[in-house]
Amino acid sequence: MCLTLPAKVVSVGKNGKAIISSGTKDLEISLGPVNDIEAGDWVLYTNEFLVKKIDEQDAREIFDLLASYPKPDYDNLEDKFKKVLESASRQTLTKSDLEYLFQLEDSALLQALYSEANITRKSNIKDHICIHGIIEFSNYCRNNCAYCGLRADNHEVKRYRMSPEEIVATAVQAVDRGYKILVLQSGEDLWFDEEKICQIIKDIKSKCRVFIYLSIGDRSFAEYEKFRQAGAGGVLYRFESSNEKLYAEMRPGHILSERINILKKLKEMGYVLATGSIIGLPGQTASDLANDVLLMKELDTFMPSFGPLIPSKNTPLAGESKVDFSMVLKMIAISRLVMPKSRISVTTAMETMRSTDGRQSAFMAGANSVMFNLTPAKYRDDYYIYENKFFDAGEKYEKWALFKGELSYQMMEKELNIEI
Ligand code: SF4
Repeated sequence: MCLTLPAKVVSVGKNGKAIISSGTKDLEISLGPVNDIEAGDWVLYTNEFLVKKIDEQDAREIFDLLASYPKPDYDNLEDKFKKVLESASRQTLTKSDLEYLFQLEDSALLQALYSEANITRKSNIKDHICIHGIIEFSNYCRNNCAYCGLRADNHEVKRYRMSPEEIVATAVQAVDRGYKILVLQSGEDLWFDEEKICQIIKDIKSKCRVFIYLSIGDRSFAEYEKFRQAGAGGVLYRFESSNEKLYAEMRPGHILSERINILKKLKEMGYVLATGSIIGLPGQTASDLANDVLLMKELDTFMPSFGPLIPSKNTPLAGESKVDFSMVLKMIAISRLVMPKSRISVTTAMETMRSTDGRQSAFMAGANSVMFNLTPAKYRDDYYIYENKFFDAGEKYEKWALFKGELSYQMMEKELNIEI
């Protein structure tokens, strides 16, 4: 989680405080752990204290990452759009409003939509970016989802399992680097049974302080209870599509209502929910996408998480077209308008679609959460959900976002309202 922003030091007082300039305003702030600064230096700061000194180039890079679209000229936008934005500001968007937004094609209106979503993000959660590290520890899966390269029937995949010791060591290393939220992800691989998963969670939690999301698919409620008791805090468990028929086609042998019940039950167990859908499934309509957003809201989703369809070879959807990136940005922006305080994540699939500026475009459309792949390099290429998967150490973000120490945990628990 990043709660830090860059600023230039204006002056340093003798009262343990400094005046800093964030570009738009000056503020007085406690020096915190930073004791070697002078006027003209660049720093990262949180709401309450300075975190560390950085160089000017890093500060400028972070400002670039926080760029926004220019504010639209509202007078020139069509009346229907303005009415929908008014409804968004009153939090009274209807399903038909959402459908209208999903159908927008005009570039000025799209830019206005992204801009409005970004303003909503900034006014609700400022420029705080949540950083997650994801460890893909097994690519075995017993399922046959039509869109997924890891499906059991794909015999071209080189399967791997990290050992429990490797998973724990990878997690501990990540926390040493400053990560505080990790996602442990796999296909539905029952080799990792209740006992192994519980032990992995306990071992990680006994060695470091970290919030753990599980993304391991269907398990019994009793198992999920055990994982929770072992220390798992969240689940990344997508409903994939709110359209029952489409869901059944994409996930043979599975029923949407069951998936939704599981999500509700997991929430009752105290798990923080990350869920969402796939954008660009064959036959998916604006009405389906609007329902996806409404379902995320109904489930009180903490972290909306979308996967754009990137057709993968050796799957039934191999011949489908890739979804247009603007549809992904629309999903982010509309979700932000409907769920202003949520942590909307930029997934690796989004970055794969636009490796140069995918992440930044997503932020500019209202996203505020990133996932960095921490799977050891020797396994990464085999976690083959789709082709040409994008890997990026996210160095800039790590420099900006990861800071250590007790204070950083306290800030994060307060901001996210979670216990680590
Ligand atoms: S989406 Fe998940 S459950 Fe479905 S085949 Fe892929 S890894 Fe398995």
